Amino acid sequence: MRKKRGTLANLLLKNYLFLYFLTTAIFIFSVIFTVSVGRFSLKNLSDSPVTADQIMKDNYTNIDITKVSQYNGFVEIIDNKYNVVYRKGFFKKDRPSKYTSQQYHDLLINNLKSSDYDDNYYYSFSYNKNKDFLLVLGIPKTPPNGNYDEFYSKLAILFFIGVIFYFFTLIIGTIIFSRLTSKNFVTPLKIILKGVDNIAQGDYSTRIHLKCRNEFSNLKDAVNIMASKIEEETNLKEKAEETRRRLIMDISHDLKTPLASVIGYSDFLVNNPSLSLQERSKYLQIIQRNSIRANDLITDLFEFSKFESYTFKLHLKSENICEFMREIIASYIPEIEEKNFNYNFDISEKDIFIAFDWKSMDRAISNLITNGLKYNPPKTTLNISLKQRFGKAEIIIQDDGVGIPKDIAKDIFKPFVRVDSSRNSQSGGTGLGLAITKKIIEKHDGTITLETDKNKGCKFTITL
Ligand code: ADP
Repeated sequence: MRKKRGTLANLLLKNYLFLYFLTTAIFIFSVIFTVSVGRFSLKNLSDSPVTADQIMKDNYTNIDITKVSQYNGFVEIIDNKYNVVYRKGFFKKDRPSKYTSQQYHDLLINNLKSSDYDDNYYYSFSYNKNKDFLLVLGIPKTPPNGNYDEFYSKLAILFFIGVIFYFFTLIIGTIIFSRLTSKNFVTPLKIILKGVDNIAQGDYSTRIHLKCRNEFSNLKDAVNIMASKIEEETNLKEKAEETRRRLIMDISHDLKTPLASVIGYSDFLVNNPSLSLQERSKYLQIIQRNSIRANDLITDLFEFSKFESYTFKLHLKSENICEFMREIIASYIPEIEEKNFNYNFDISEKDIFIAFDWKSMDRAISNLITNGLKYNPPKTTLNISLKQRFGKAEIIIQDDGVGIPKDIAKDIFKPFVRVDSSRNSQSGGTGLGLAITKKIIEKHDGTITLETDKNKGCKFTITL
């Protein structure tokens, strides 16, 4: 079962969330940055920089008002009768020289606005117990010298810095985000594209390696499967092409020898009319033998290609295969005895009915028996058995003759493979017999195997 993978939609959602948090964080960071810078640069403009306690002295005439003056502030000393006994610094002329109890509490203590005059000050108080007076320190709420222009232009610069900072961090954030997005989307696409390009250029061994768990991974798998299928097909095609080439070479080679002999001897006969009847007959026999061999080769070749063709259909009929085997064996007994072979036949007494093509199966089994008789010396024992095993018919054709060397035996069912590789006509075979037998058995959905080695005989097992 295919593993459930994270989808691109999830990836997109993750990216969107990340972008959302990134922009929010940038915004918050920009605000904090601007406020901090603002507080630092506007500090001097808004907060009261000095308190009454800090400058208190028993002798109020000695009070140092340098710092107070810097901020356009003033100090007042008020005695216990609310009289202003001392005043220094920048103060408005209309400040009262005596406070009423009401004014004293409203204006100074509670910092309420008086209708009498514009009182826009930060106040700070300090009571001197020793001398029984109150020190009032007033700093105007407006910037120094009432410089609003400077204040507002500083605010504007600050706002501008804030905006610049916001956009700057936003650009950096966007670059980081685009890099991350690229890693998730563009990089896998590039890798897949490169692989597809290689495949398109004919390198079917290309496999895409990608570590991710989303649709890109599915795409990568699909491309890899496609490439391996094409590679497999191409290899098969090349192999088939190679087999076809080899087959044509083998056919032409095998046909050349008998035909050259036919042409040579017939030429000789035509050009020498004075030959004796005996000589003529000898050469005619050679021509006949070679013509038969060429004919056998062409017939076998035709048979082989017929069984190999996809369009060829067997004439299947359900028949008793035991009866079929008995008939074949009976037809071979005279030849077996003539060649002085020993034999054992063990055909099941019980009828075994299977669907097979009598004529083709005759060809397949006959090939094996003929080979046994053809390639082995007299006194060889030929064993033929037919049994029912595991619901299948098992035919064994075995001899204890010369056998086939193991290295050749592995290819013996391929066309034109023979132990006698010199390919002369001595043994008379075409090298197509076993290839045809195998094709026929396979057409019947059966199998054929061979157990053999040099001097160990041959054991052909057919299962149908
Ligand atoms: P051929 O037409 O040459 O007989 P086959 O495909 O039938 O072609 O056999 C291939 C080769 O296998 C033969 O040339 C022969 O050398 C070897 N062979 C086949 N059957 C036997 C056997 N029973 N004993 C020894 N050699 C065999």
